[in-house]
Amino acid sequence: MYKILKKDGKAKRAEFTTVHGTIQTPVFMNVGTAAAIKGAVATTDLKEIGTQVELSNTYHLHVRPGDEVVKKMGGLHKFMNWDRPILTDSGGFQVFSLAGLRKIKEEGVYFQSHIDGRKIFMGPEESMQIQSNLASTIAMAFDECPSSVASREYVQASVDRTTRWLWRCRAEMERLNQKEDTINRHQLLFGINQGAVYEDIRIAHAREIADMDLDGYAVGGLAVGESHEEMYRILDAVVPCLPEEKPTYLMGVGTPANILEAVDRGVDFFDCVYPTRNGRHGHVYTNLGKLNLFNAKFELDSRPIEEGCQCPACRNYSRAYIRHLLKAKEMLGMRLCVLHNLYFYNKMMEEIREAIEQGTYQEYKKQKLEGFL
Ligand SMILES: [Zn+2]
Repeated sequence: MYKILKKDGKAKRAEFTTVHGTIQTPVFMNVGTAAAIKGAVATTDLKEIGTQVELSNTYHLHVRPGDEVVKKMGGLHKFMNWDRPILTDSGGFQVFSLAGLRKIKEEGVYFQSHIDGRKIFMGPEESMQIQSNLASTIAMAFDECPSSVASREYVQASVDRTTRWLWRCRAEMERLNQKEDTINRHQLLFGINQGAVYEDIRIAHAREIADMDLDGYAVGGLAVGESHEEMYRILDAVVPCLPEEKPTYLMGVGTPANILEAVDRGVDFFDCVYPTRNGRHGHVYTNLGKLNLFNAKFELDSRPIEEGCQCPACRNYSRAYIRHLLKAKEMLGMRLCVLHNLYFYNKMMEEIREAIEQGTYQEYKKQKLEGFL
């Protein structure tokens, strides 16, 4: 299913075959939290901007519209009209960051919905059941993401529990994939490495889960407040302890520079809300750094956001026009900025893949990073 086509240093150029099509890696997954890319971007737009994988959030879809509704509608692919791969997160991160009044027990987490205060319980089995109802291509294991400032004792106890939860996730996923009425009986499971900024805890955990022969492995709990240098140090330590012949996913990362550095350390799956969130605020990416389109200097600027960019915004509209839309709070302004930013990320991943294939990744990375300064 996962096949490395070429290596350049530690950077991997691979292909990951799923029931919903083949993913070319390194890949940036485009985040559609509640089964929609924020900024009025439809799944029909995603094909035009080179999206390979859409990512949706289990917690959000569980509280609204409810995963049972999605299942009755034939699963997430049918519901949102997207036939390429979808990855769903486990809900763990949102339970720990969004939900109110939570209580963590061995069996799982008790918490209140951030929408209506309703009491909900979610453990490894519930997370797998919800993701099975959503019928995503790749399901993520239910884990706890301890705070980057948590004590060593807390992090160790949390990681041990996350490992026990992972065994339960795997058993439940196997059971669900055998059920007659399961929509996607080939659903894949990725495990998640945790351990905050404690290298030794992370390494021991990575080795333990590496032995479980899962479909892929993620590094979680990074980009949550630690410095970039700290994140790279942990990747240097942890990625070599995860199976090379499986996909490696760095969750929630990040800036174009973070992605370039992580690819160089062997990571090949990414996701982040930056391109969509920044786009909604009129901040757009270019090869010479970010622009704030609200800036007065773009008032009469007839150039596209980036010369030569083939995205739907740049092919048709000027910076001056998009700036006007943003200032007038026209939804089209946001939409064009989000389309450009996602195209920019997807295009950069395509260039990364090409550079690895040609054995020129170091040169490419250096040149790209210099442009961003
Ligand atoms: Zn563009």
